[in-house]
Amino acid sequence: MELFKVEGWNLNTDKIAFKDSKKKEAQKARNKQEKIDRKEASTKNGKKQKKEHHQVEEVNEEEDEEEDEEETEDIPDVKDKSSKKKPQKVTKPTVAKPVVQPAKKLTPLQQKMMAKLSGSRFRWINEQLYTITSDDALNLIKDQPALFDEYHEGFRSQVQSWPENPVDTFVNEIKFRSKKVINAPGGLPGLYPNKEIVIADMGCGEAQLALDVTQFFNKINKKAKGRRKVNFKVNSFDLKQTNDRITVADIRHVPMKDESATIAIFCLSLMGTNFLDFIKEAYRILAPRGELWISEIKSRFSDGRGDEFVETLKLMGFFHKKTDDSNKMFTRFEFFKPPEDIIQERKAKLERRNKFIEVETEKEQLEIKRSKVAEGKWLLKPCIYKRR
Ligand code: SAH
Repeated sequence: MELFKVEGWNLNTDKIAFKDSKKKEAQKARNKQEKIDRKEASTKNGKKQKKEHHQVEEVNEEEDEEEDEEETEDIPDVKDKSSKKKPQKVTKPTVAKPVVQPAKKLTPLQQKMMAKLSGSRFRWINEQLYTITSDDALNLIKDQPALFDEYHEGFRSQVQSWPENPVDTFVNEIKFRSKKVINAPGGLPGLYPNKEIVIADMGCGEAQLALDVTQFFNKINKKAKGRRKVNFKVNSFDLKQTNDRITVADIRHVPMKDESATIAIFCLSLMGTNFLDFIKEAYRILAPRGELWISEIKSRFSDGRGDEFVETLKLMGFFHKKTDDSNKMFTRFEFFKPPEDIIQERKAKLERRNKFIEVETEKEQLEIKRSKVAEGKWLLKPCIYKRR
């Protein structure tokens, strides 16, 4: 696809996904080797059966022979003493062994060059994910899963250089709010009737959040004794399943029922050009009073603070709780999905002020605008990581 073309780059799977192509070669060689081994084993079995028939007492020695066979050029058939046959020649497999050359130690200069190369590959993949639709992103990663691994290798190294990981901020927020009663003011939102906290981590990366949150709640549940235990579930979605906490999904359509989540989190994952579709999906899965938490790189907002972004999400039905821009690199937002009675109240208020039509028109205009130019081109800028 033209879109993925980059000067000087060949995006054929065997070129870019070099780890996979190496694996394939090794697998091919292994298959060939297995075929030969099977052939040899069946000939040997025939031979062995004959031998066992004649000389059962020498089985041990024969086992030794089996182990050594690969290294042996000529194996004299010494066991079959009754036979006067000449030593039998066992042909050594002609297929190259699937030996992967031990990685040569790189010189410091080579290491530096490798780091530069993987740095620019990371930046390239990153840029792709910000400039294509989520559909294309899912297909890209399906076709070339190694890209995802390369992306995350680079992403991890970026995160290490940040003074704070926004995932940790969300985990801390969960820990802090868990001190209050679920569904009480300041407490975490839970589903009725059993107050289950259901988190959807949309674009979870390696699902660190699920790991940390699960560990935390398990720990407090262990100590709960007489007190009620916390019911919780974390659903983590991303383009590739790198561990069993993750479900593969384009976050535009996740496998969750309407109103079945209480917190939807987007931590640096509003990447596709159609990212407002992800917000709509969050609205669908969130229960009334469910919360939407977003963290994004500050430089993505053309107006600096993200006011236009907030206004857009309000047009999509969310109520804005707060914007935290105290961090130098990230801006964090909290919204919630209003319950039906508040929606009706708001509507009545707008009608009283003759503003209802105005807002409805704004909503229509937003849809017209994004059908002409995707929101990834005007509402949030792609996050381009600098060379380091
Ligand atoms: N939330 C994680 C990962 C951030 S990197 C963290 O903060 O550590 C952004 C992630 O969003 C990547 O893993 C990327 O694959 C994912 N992503 C981007 N678009 C997506 C889509 N349409 N569907 C699912 N995941 C997506």
